[in-house]
This record gives sequence, C-alpha cells and structure tokens, in this order.
Amino acid sequence: MTLGEFEFIERLLRPLAQGFPGSLDLGDDAALVDVPEGCQLVVAKDAIVENVHFFSDDPPEQIAAKLLRVNLSDLAAMGADPLAYLTMIARPASTSDQWLEAFVSGLAEDQNRFGIHLIGGDTVATTGPLVLSLTILGLVPRGAALQRRGARPGDLVCVSGTLGDAAMALRIQRGLAVPEEMVPPLLARYRMPVPRLALGRALRGLATAAIDISDGLVADLAHILERSKVGAEIEMANLPLSEAARGLPGARLSALTGGDDYELLFTLPPEHAQHLPALAERGGVAVSVIGRITAEPGLRVLDANGRPLALERTGYRHF
Ligand code: ADP
Ligand code: MG
Repeated sequence: MTLGEFEFIERLLRPLAQGFPGSLDLGDDAALVDVPEGCQLVVAKDAIVENVHFFSDDPPEQIAAKLLRVNLSDLAAMGADPLAYLTMIARPASTSDQWLEAFVSGLAEDQNRFGIHLIGGDTVATTGPLVLSLTILGLVPRGAALQRRGARPGDLVCVSGTLGDAAMALRIQRGLAVPEEMVPPLLARYRMPVPRLALGRALRGLATAAIDISDGLVADLAHILERSKVGAEIEMANLPLSEAARGLPGARLSALTGGDDYELLFTLPPEHAQHLPALAERGGVAVSVIGRITAEPGLRVLDANGRPLALERTGYRHF
C-alpha cells in the first residue's frame, strides 16, 4: 500500500469533484449545496460490506457502479433528480492501491453517465473487512416526492421492466444449469442494475405510492401495503419475465420473491391508466400492470386460474 489518505483524496478523488463548485475540490471541511427555491433535498444512504454484499474478487469497477446505482434507485423511487454524492471508505490494510484506483474509475464512469459529482466523504483505516458506503443527494419539487404511503383501494399495481432476473443470476452462480446464452443478460442484471430515474420523474403527480424492488416484489409490495394501510391482489400470470428468464425453472417464483432487480413498483389510480404508454415511453422501460390495491388487508397472489396461491409458495413467510 503506497497511497496515503491524503494522496488518495488529492489524486484519485478530487477529479470526481470537479464540475460541482460547492464540493470546494474536496479541500474543505464540508461541501456547500444550494437547494433551488421550491425544491426539497432528497437524501439516501446504502452501505456494502466485503463478503456480505460483494466478494473480494468481484471487479472493483462493478462494485462501485452497483453501490452508486442502488442509491440512485432510491432516488428514482422517490421521483427525485440526482444531484451529488458522498462516500465513506473503511479500508483494511489488505486493500491494494490498484483496487482503490479501479473502484474510483468505476465511480468516475458512472457519475458521468448519471451527471453527478462526488462532493465529500470520509476515509478511514479498519481492522475489519472493507466497508463502502455512499450517500446520495437528489432534488424534487416541494411536495412532489413519491412515497410508500398513499396507495388506495382500486389503484393499479404496476412494475417497470422485468422481474426475477437478478435472482436467477444468483441461482446460476450457485450451480443452476441453464443454456449458455442466457447467462450474460441475467448476470448483467445482477451486477449493473439500471436505476429507473426517468420513470420515477415521470410518475410525479400520477403515482400514489412507489418503491424500488431491492428485496423482492412480495417483500417490497408489503412495505407499500403496510405504509398505505391497504391490501393487494396480484396475478402471477402478469409478472413480467425477461426473454432470458422465461422458460427457466423457477423463473416465476424468482420474479415474485427474488431481490436485486431495482425495478420500480408503484400504484396508479385507474383514471391515470391511460398514461401508462406515455409513462413507459418517458421512462424508457416497459411498464406492466400486475394487480390492484384492495381495501382488504394482506397480499393475495392469484394463479392463472384466479385461485389464490398458498402464501408459503410465494415465499412470503420468509420475510
Ligand atoms: P476532516 O478531518 O475535516 O473530516 P478529512 O481529512 O476527513 O477532513 O477529509 C478531507 C476532505 O476530503 C473533506 O472535504 C472530505 O469530504 C474529503 N474526503 C475524504 N474522504 C473522502 C471520500 N472517501 N470521498 C470523498 N471525499 C472524501
Ligand atoms: Mg473526515
């Protein structure tokens, strides 16, 4: 290890702050952030730990991209526009300079893609595993943020993209044999989630509730139901499956309970159903209606014949 903390900040991190005047070039005690009149600051944080959320031999660029993207996904779920981010790196002596350089280059590439800058953070040494955390800042017009509460009986339950791909990728890594050409698209979904920022923005003023699917459809829908004090019925046959996942064993169950897809799950009053094609267009992603909100509490998952599945089979009990 040759890079000191000071060098690390000066040489590797400072370039990521350029273009955001309030970052003060990472040369001050804190950053300055202007919040435009009529906007609210939206703040989220996610941390990841070596051997818990990523493996020591995962490509560092991908770890960086995923760390940034899971945070951006939280902004998408709030309907916010990304503004800037901070990082915390707790570095064991075993983390090489090359690893850090690759990690920072992963951040650099993705911050350009999403139009944001690094504006601060902290770097510490640790005797434990490598820990990385990221705090993201976003902006939303005052009062327009999407929240988990607000779903009402009769609202349509909608999801973006396809579900279960990331969970299928994990199952493949654990030994599930699938046709070779299915592997790259599924693995990409696990490693490089796409935060649905444009869709989140488009949902402002239309969706009554929203969340990003990180723990799985059943678990995350349960959060909306709980916060909104309603229930829901969803149809197994309507779950959107990717070309790669469709036809693989357990794909539908993965779509129901598998995590890490980072799609948006939201509720839409039926009178806004006409906007669905425009939402998909503006969001740059397909949107599917998978069910409806009910006054009766709890979640019912209906099979192709409209019969409720035993909750055990949905994996609901695990949560
Ligand atoms: P202080 O002791 O005042 O907290 P530090 O030496 O921890 O100062 O940090 C100096 C500057 O470098 C600060 O502006 C801080 O935001 C920035 N910085 C430190 N670590 C990171 C990091 N991992 N990512 C981004 N900025 C960082
Ligand atoms: Mg500090």
